Amino acid sequence: MELSIVVPCYNEEEALPYFMEALTKIEASLPLTVAYYFVDDGSTDGTLTVLRKLAATNPRCHFQSFSRNFGKEAGLLAGLTQAQGDYVVVMDADLQDPPEMLAEMLRLIQEEHFDVVGTRRMDRKGEPILRSLFSRMFYYLMSKISKTPMLSGVRDYRMMTRQVVDSILSLQEYNRFSKGIFSWVGYRTTYLPYENRERIAGKTSWSFWSLFSYSLEAIVNFSDFPLTIASFTGIISCLLAAIFMIVIVVRTLIFGDPTSGWPSLATIVLFVGGLQLFALGIVGKYIGKIFLETKDRPHYIIKESDEKKEQTDELSR
Ligand code: UDP
Ligand code: MG
Repeated sequence: MELSIVVPCYNEEEALPYFMEALTKIEASLPLTVAYYFVDDGSTDGTLTVLRKLAATNPRCHFQSFSRNFGKEAGLLAGLTQAQGDYVVVMDADLQDPPEMLAEMLRLIQEEHFDVVGTRRMDRKGEPILRSLFSRMFYYLMSKISKTPMLSGVRDYRMMTRQVVDSILSLQEYNRFSKGIFSWVGYRTTYLPYENRERIAGKTSWSFWSLFSYSLEAIVNFSDFPLTIASFTGIISCLLAAIFMIVIVVRTLIFGDPTSGWPSLATIVLFVGGLQLFALGIVGKYIGKIFLETKDRPHYIIKESDEKKEQTDELSR
Protein backbone atom coordinates (compact mmCIF):
# COMPACT_ATOMS: atom_id res chain seq x y z
CA MET A 1 0.00 0.00 0.00
CA GLU A 2 1.28 3.45 -0.86
CA LEU A 3 0.28 6.85 0.44
CA SER A 4 1.14 9.53 -2.10
CA ILE A 5 1.68 13.05 -0.87
CA VAL A 6 1.18 15.68 -3.55
CA VAL A 7 2.91 18.98 -2.83
CA PRO A 8 2.64 21.98 -5.16
CA CYS A 9 5.59 24.29 -4.56
CA TYR A 10 6.04 27.85 -5.69
CA ASN A 11 9.16 29.49 -4.28
CA GLU A 12 9.32 27.15 -1.31
CA GLU A 13 13.09 26.76 -1.12
CA GLU A 14 13.10 27.85 2.53
CA ALA A 15 10.08 25.84 3.65
CA LEU A 16 10.92 22.52 1.96
CA PRO A 17 13.67 21.38 4.38
CA TYR A 18 11.29 21.94 7.34
CA PHE A 19 8.56 20.15 5.44
CA MET A 20 10.70 17.07 4.78
CA GLU A 21 11.95 17.03 8.34
CA ALA A 22 8.43 17.13 9.79
CA LEU A 23 7.14 14.49 7.40
CA THR A 24 10.01 12.09 7.85
CA LYS A 25 9.16 12.08 11.54
CA ILE A 26 5.49 11.34 10.91
CA GLU A 27 6.18 8.79 8.16
CA ALA A 28 7.51 6.19 10.60
CA SER A 29 4.23 6.12 12.51
CA LEU A 30 2.17 5.39 9.38
CA PRO A 31 1.41 1.77 8.49
CA LEU A 32 2.22 2.12 4.79
CA THR A 33 4.88 3.42 2.40
CA VAL A 34 4.86 7.14 1.82
CA ALA A 35 5.90 8.64 -1.50
CA TYR A 36 6.18 12.33 -2.36
CA TYR A 37 5.15 13.98 -5.59
CA PHE A 38 6.44 17.54 -5.65
CA VAL A 39 5.49 19.95 -8.38
CA ASP A 40 7.71 22.94 -8.92
CA ASP A 41 5.35 25.56 -10.29
CA GLY A 42 7.93 27.65 -12.15
CA SER A 43 9.65 28.84 -8.99
CA THR A 44 12.18 31.63 -9.34
CA ASP A 45 14.22 30.62 -6.30
CA GLY A 46 16.16 27.43 -5.59
CA THR A 47 13.11 25.18 -5.19
CA LEU A 48 14.02 23.04 -8.19
CA THR A 49 17.56 22.47 -6.91
CA VAL A 50 16.15 21.33 -3.57
CA LEU A 51 13.73 18.97 -5.33
CA ARG A 52 16.44 17.52 -7.59
CA LYS A 53 18.51 16.77 -4.52
CA LEU A 54 15.59 15.17 -2.71
CA ALA A 55 14.79 12.97 -5.71
CA ALA A 56 18.43 11.96 -6.07
CA THR A 57 18.78 10.90 -2.43
CA ASN A 58 15.32 9.46 -1.80
CA PRO A 59 13.75 7.11 -4.37
CA ARG A 60 10.32 7.84 -2.90
CA CYS A 61 10.61 11.55 -3.75
CA HIS A 62 9.39 12.43 -7.22
CA PHE A 63 9.13 15.81 -8.84
CA GLN A 64 7.89 17.57 -11.92
CA SER A 65 8.98 21.06 -12.82
CA PHE A 66 6.88 23.41 -14.95
CA SER A 67 8.25 25.61 -17.71
CA ARG A 68 6.70 28.64 -15.95
CA ASN A 69 4.27 29.47 -13.16
CA PHE A 70 0.96 27.84 -14.06
CA GLY A 71 -0.77 28.35 -10.69
CA LYS A 72 -1.57 26.02 -7.81
CA GLU A 73 -4.49 24.39 -9.64
CA ALA A 74 -2.21 23.19 -12.42
CA GLY A 75 0.31 22.05 -9.83
CA LEU A 76 -2.31 19.97 -8.05
CA LEU A 77 -3.44 18.41 -11.31
CA ALA A 78 0.12 17.49 -12.30
CA GLY A 79 0.79 16.00 -8.87
CA LEU A 80 -2.43 14.00 -8.82
CA THR A 81 -1.70 12.71 -12.33
CA GLN A 82 1.75 11.49 -11.35
CA ALA A 83 0.76 10.05 -7.95
CA GLN A 84 0.40 6.27 -7.97
CA GLY A 85 -0.70 5.57 -4.40
CA ASP A 86 -3.78 3.77 -3.10
CA TYR A 87 -4.39 6.85 -1.01
CA VAL A 88 -3.45 10.35 -2.03
CA VAL A 89 -2.96 13.43 0.12
CA VAL A 90 -2.78 16.98 -1.15
CA MET A 91 -0.62 19.17 1.05
CA ASP A 92 1.02 22.62 1.03
CA ALA A 93 4.76 22.88 1.38
CA ASP A 94 4.64 25.53 4.12
CA LEU A 95 3.50 23.21 6.97
CA GLN A 96 0.26 25.15 7.34
CA ASP A 97 -1.35 21.77 6.87
CA PRO A 98 -0.50 19.88 10.09
CA PRO A 99 1.16 16.55 9.16
CA GLU A 100 0.16 15.07 12.55
CA MET A 101 -3.34 14.75 11.14
CA LEU A 102 -2.29 12.17 8.54
CA ALA A 103 -2.62 9.22 10.93
CA GLU A 104 -6.17 10.14 11.88
CA MET A 105 -7.11 10.80 8.24
CA LEU A 106 -5.81 7.38 7.27
CA ARG A 107 -7.69 5.74 10.12
CA LEU A 108 -10.96 7.37 9.07
CA ILE A 109 -10.52 6.15 5.51
CA GLN A 110 -9.40 2.63 6.38
CA GLU A 111 -11.61 1.93 9.38
CA GLU A 112 -14.62 4.18 9.00
CA HIS A 113 -14.68 3.76 5.22
CA PHE A 114 -14.76 7.40 4.26
CA ASP A 115 -13.63 8.11 0.70
CA VAL A 116 -12.40 11.59 1.43
CA VAL A 117 -11.11 13.10 4.65
CA GLY A 118 -10.74 16.84 4.30
CA THR A 119 -9.65 19.45 6.79
CA ARG A 120 -11.36 22.57 7.93
CA ARG A 121 -9.72 25.60 9.47
CA MET A 122 -11.86 26.61 12.41
CA ASP A 123 -10.46 30.10 12.94
CA ARG A 124 -8.92 32.77 10.82
CA LYS A 125 -6.38 33.95 13.35
CA GLY A 126 -3.54 35.99 11.94
CA GLU A 127 -5.51 36.94 8.86
CA PRO A 128 -6.32 40.56 7.98
CA ILE A 129 -9.88 41.51 8.98
CA LEU A 130 -10.87 42.67 5.52
CA ARG A 131 -9.74 39.36 4.05
CA SER A 132 -11.77 37.36 6.58
CA LEU A 133 -14.80 39.48 5.85
CA PHE A 134 -14.58 39.01 2.10
CA SER A 135 -13.87 35.35 2.54
CA ARG A 136 -17.02 34.88 4.64
CA MET A 137 -19.04 36.86 2.12
CA PHE A 138 -17.70 34.68 -0.67
CA TYR A 139 -18.71 31.41 1.01
CA TYR A 140 -22.10 32.79 1.93
CA LEU A 141 -22.71 33.90 -1.64
CA MET A 142 -21.45 30.61 -3.05
CA SER A 143 -23.78 28.64 -0.79
CA LYS A 144 -26.68 30.64 -2.21
CA ILE A 145 -25.85 30.61 -5.90
CA SER A 146 -24.00 27.36 -6.58
CA LYS A 147 -25.33 23.84 -6.47
CA THR A 148 -21.90 22.55 -5.46
CA PRO A 149 -21.65 22.90 -1.68
CA MET A 150 -18.54 24.73 -0.48
CA LEU A 151 -17.92 25.07 3.24
CA SER A 152 -16.05 28.00 4.71
CA GLY A 153 -12.54 27.21 5.92
CA VAL A 154 -12.18 23.96 3.97
CA ARG A 155 -8.58 23.59 2.85
CA ASP A 156 -7.14 21.76 -0.10
CA TYR A 157 -5.39 19.53 2.49
CA ARG A 158 -7.22 16.21 2.14
CA MET A 159 -6.74 12.48 1.84
CA MET A 160 -8.56 10.61 -0.92
CA THR A 161 -8.89 7.04 -2.10
CA ARG A 162 -7.63 6.08 -5.55
CA GLN A 163 -11.21 5.99 -6.84
CA VAL A 164 -11.81 9.62 -5.84
CA VAL A 165 -8.52 10.73 -7.41
CA ASP A 166 -9.45 8.99 -10.67
CA SER A 167 -12.81 10.79 -10.62
CA ILE A 168 -11.08 14.13 -10.11
CA LEU A 169 -8.69 13.40 -12.96
CA SER A 170 -11.61 12.56 -15.21
CA LEU A 171 -12.68 16.22 -15.04
CA GLN A 172 -10.43 17.71 -17.66
CA GLU A 173 -11.81 21.24 -17.72
CA TYR A 174 -9.32 24.00 -18.40
CA ASN A 175 -10.66 26.46 -15.82
CA ARG A 176 -9.96 24.48 -12.68
CA PHE A 177 -11.22 25.53 -9.29
CA SER A 178 -10.10 22.65 -7.09
CA LYS A 179 -12.27 23.41 -4.08
CA GLY A 180 -15.29 23.17 -6.36
CA ILE A 181 -14.04 20.09 -8.20
CA PHE A 182 -13.28 18.23 -4.94
CA SER A 183 -16.80 18.94 -3.77
CA TRP A 184 -18.42 18.25 -7.13
CA VAL A 185 -17.17 14.66 -7.40
CA GLY A 186 -19.02 13.85 -4.18
CA TYR A 187 -18.22 10.59 -2.28
CA ARG A 188 -18.44 9.99 1.43
CA THR A 189 -16.61 12.90 2.97
CA THR A 190 -15.79 14.09 6.45
CA TYR A 191 -13.85 17.10 7.67
CA LEU A 192 -11.37 17.29 10.52
CA PRO A 193 -11.22 20.66 12.24
CA TYR A 194 -7.90 22.25 13.14
CA GLU A 195 -6.51 25.56 14.27
CA ASN A 196 -4.93 27.86 11.75
CA ARG A 197 -1.12 28.07 11.64
CA GLU A 198 1.35 30.54 10.26
CA ARG A 199 3.53 29.31 7.41
CA ILE A 200 6.90 28.00 8.57
CA ALA A 201 9.09 30.00 6.18
CA GLY A 202 8.86 32.00 2.98
CA LYS A 203 5.82 34.10 2.21
CA THR A 204 2.36 33.55 0.81
CA SER A 205 1.90 34.13 -2.88
CA TRP A 206 -1.65 35.38 -2.41
CA SER A 207 -2.40 39.08 -2.20
CA PHE A 208 -5.81 40.46 -1.35
CA TRP A 209 -6.52 41.18 -5.01
CA SER A 210 -5.39 37.82 -6.26
CA LEU A 211 -7.76 36.19 -3.75
CA PHE A 212 -10.53 38.54 -4.80
CA SER A 213 -10.19 37.74 -8.48
CA TYR A 214 -9.80 34.04 -7.61
CA SER A 215 -13.20 34.15 -5.92
CA LEU A 216 -14.77 35.85 -8.95
CA GLU A 217 -13.31 33.08 -11.13
CA ALA A 218 -14.78 30.54 -8.74
CA ILE A 219 -18.22 32.06 -9.08
CA VAL A 220 -18.09 32.05 -12.87
CA ASN A 221 -16.73 28.48 -12.88
CA PHE A 222 -19.28 26.98 -10.53
CA SER A 223 -22.43 29.00 -10.99
CA ASP A 224 -24.45 30.50 -13.80
CA PHE A 225 -26.25 32.79 -11.38
CA PRO A 226 -24.58 36.00 -12.67
CA LEU A 227 -26.24 35.29 -16.04
CA THR A 228 -29.57 35.18 -14.23
CA ILE A 229 -28.82 38.55 -12.63
CA ALA A 230 -28.16 39.97 -16.09
CA SER A 231 -31.50 38.86 -17.51
CA PHE A 232 -33.29 39.72 -14.28
CA THR A 233 -32.09 43.33 -14.23
CA GLY A 234 -33.04 43.50 -17.91
CA ILE A 235 -36.60 42.43 -17.14
CA ILE A 236 -36.90 44.81 -14.18
CA SER A 237 -35.74 47.84 -16.17
CA CYS A 238 -38.13 46.91 -19.02
CA LEU A 239 -41.02 46.78 -16.55
CA LEU A 240 -40.03 50.13 -15.04
CA ALA A 241 -39.78 51.67 -18.50
CA ALA A 242 -43.27 50.39 -19.38
CA ILE A 243 -44.73 51.88 -16.18
CA PHE A 244 -43.02 55.22 -16.85
CA MET A 245 -44.33 55.23 -20.39
CA ILE A 246 -47.89 54.81 -19.20
CA VAL A 247 -47.41 57.52 -16.56
CA ILE A 248 -46.02 59.92 -19.16
CA VAL A 249 -48.80 59.27 -21.68
CA VAL A 250 -51.50 59.72 -19.04
CA ARG A 251 -49.83 62.84 -17.66
CA THR A 252 -49.55 64.37 -21.15
CA LEU A 253 -53.22 63.64 -21.85
CA ILE A 254 -54.30 65.30 -18.62
CA PHE A 255 -51.82 68.20 -18.23
CA GLY A 256 -50.66 68.85 -21.80
CA ASP A 257 -47.04 68.66 -22.93
CA PRO A 258 -44.62 71.10 -21.28
CA THR A 259 -41.20 70.49 -22.88
CA SER A 260 -38.89 69.60 -20.04
CA GLY A 261 -37.21 66.57 -18.58
CA TRP A 262 -33.93 66.62 -20.45
CA PRO A 263 -31.78 65.91 -17.34
CA SER A 264 -33.93 62.98 -16.27
CA LEU A 265 -33.78 61.62 -19.82
CA ALA A 266 -30.01 61.84 -19.87
CA THR A 267 -29.83 60.04 -16.53
CA ILE A 268 -32.10 57.26 -17.74
CA VAL A 269 -30.13 56.79 -20.94
CA LEU A 270 -26.92 56.57 -18.93
CA PHE A 271 -28.46 54.18 -16.45
CA VAL A 272 -29.82 51.83 -19.07
CA GLY A 273 -26.56 52.04 -21.01
CA GLY A 274 -24.75 51.06 -17.84
CA LEU A 275 -27.04 48.12 -17.23
CA GLN A 276 -26.45 46.89 -20.76
CA LEU A 277 -22.70 47.06 -20.41
CA PHE A 278 -22.92 45.31 -17.05
CA ALA A 279 -24.94 42.47 -18.53
CA LEU A 280 -22.63 42.28 -21.54
CA GLY A 281 -19.67 42.11 -19.21
CA ILE A 282 -21.15 39.13 -17.40
CA VAL A 283 -21.94 37.35 -20.64
CA GLY A 284 -18.43 38.22 -21.83
CA LYS A 285 -16.91 36.52 -18.76
CA TYR A 286 -18.63 33.27 -19.63
CA ILE A 287 -17.71 33.55 -23.30
CA GLY A 288 -14.12 34.09 -22.20
CA LYS A 289 -14.29 30.84 -20.26
CA ILE A 290 -15.73 29.01 -23.26
CA PHE A 291 -12.95 30.49 -25.41
CA LEU A 292 -10.30 29.10 -23.06
CA GLU A 293 -12.01 25.71 -22.86
CA THR A 294 -12.32 25.35 -26.66
CA LYS A 295 -8.65 26.16 -27.20
CA ASP A 296 -8.01 22.94 -25.34
CA ARG A 297 -4.51 23.88 -24.31
CA PRO A 298 -2.62 21.69 -21.87
CA HIS A 299 -2.99 22.69 -18.21
CA TYR A 300 0.77 22.86 -17.78
CA ILE A 301 4.04 22.15 -19.51
CA ILE A 302 6.62 19.98 -17.79
CA LYS A 303 10.17 21.05 -18.40
CA GLU A 304 11.88 18.53 -16.17
CA SER A 305 10.88 15.64 -13.95
CA ASP A 306 12.48 12.71 -12.21
CA GLU A 307 10.72 10.40 -14.67
CA LYS A 308 12.17 12.23 -17.65
CA LYS A 309 15.55 12.04 -16.03
CA GLU A 310 15.22 8.29 -15.71
CA GLN A 311 14.27 8.10 -19.39
CA THR A 312 17.25 10.15 -20.53
CA ASP A 313 19.49 8.12 -18.23
CA GLU A 314 18.30 4.97 -19.98
CA LEU A 315 18.78 6.52 -23.41
CA SER A 316 22.28 7.62 -22.63
CA ARG A 317 23.21 4.19 -21.37
N1 UDP B 1 1.52 27.45 -4.90
C1 UDP B 1 1.77 26.97 -6.18
N2 UDP B 1 1.65 27.83 -7.25
C2 UDP B 1 1.29 29.14 -7.09
C3 UDP B 1 1.02 29.59 -5.77
C4 UDP B 1 1.14 28.72 -4.72
O1 UDP B 1 2.09 25.80 -6.38
O2 UDP B 1 1.22 29.85 -8.08
C5 UDP B 1 1.66 26.52 -3.75
C6 UDP B 1 2.57 27.02 -2.63
O3 UDP B 1 3.92 26.68 -2.86
C7 UDP B 1 2.02 26.30 -1.42
C8 UDP B 1 0.53 26.20 -1.74
O4 UDP B 1 0.41 26.37 -3.15
O5 UDP B 1 2.56 25.00 -1.25
C9 UDP B 1 -0.27 27.23 -0.98
O6 UDP B 1 0.25 28.53 -1.24
P1 UDP B 1 0.36 29.64 -0.11
O7 UDP B 1 0.93 29.07 1.13
O8 UDP B 1 1.05 30.81 -0.75
O9 UDP B 1 -1.18 29.97 0.08
P2 UDP B 1 -1.97 30.15 1.47
O10 UDP B 1 -1.51 29.04 2.39
O11 UDP B 1 -1.59 31.48 1.96
O12 UDP B 1 -3.40 30.02 1.06
MG1 MG C 1 0.22 28.55 2.97
